[in-house]
Amino acid sequence: MVRCKICNNSSLFISKYPGVCLDCIKTKTDKALKVAFEAHKKSRLVYSPEFIN
Ligand SMILES: [Zn+2]
Repeated sequence: MVRCKICNNSSLFISKYPGVCLDCIKTKTDKALKVAFEAHKKSRLVYSPEFIN
């Protein structure tokens, strides 16, 4: 079970990435996109060495 990073609800509909629920994406789009963007940046930092080589 994954928790939404914005409203902290747990839901089957929250994907691990970006980690925000559909409600927040619909109602708090700006914040949800920001959270998703931050998650994306972090995942790129984690995975980028593999792509460089
Ligand atoms: Zn949410």
